[in-house]
Amino acid sequence: MANYKIEHDREGCIGCGACAANCPANWAMKNDSKSSPKKTAITDKELDCNMKAAQGCPVNVIHIKDEKGKQLI
Ligand code: SF4
Repeated sequence: MANYKIEHDREGCIGCGACAANCPANWAMKNDSKSSPKKTAITDKELDCNMKAAQGCPVNVIHIKDEKGKQLI
């Protein structure tokens, strides 16, 4: 069951690759040199990895909300 939602402002992504390095389970670089999450609905178990991806983003374009819509990052 998905408990958290990832929002990625792809337009602002500078393609540094940090998210893919910090959380390869859910983040990958694409042909246009920007990243994308493999999925945007994630569970408790997947939260840590994706929080690391968001925390490591130098331009803060990765955000995660809980099921109530509260923004965690
Ligand atoms: S860490 Fe941020 S800027 Fe870097 S590739 Fe990922 S989303 Fe883009």
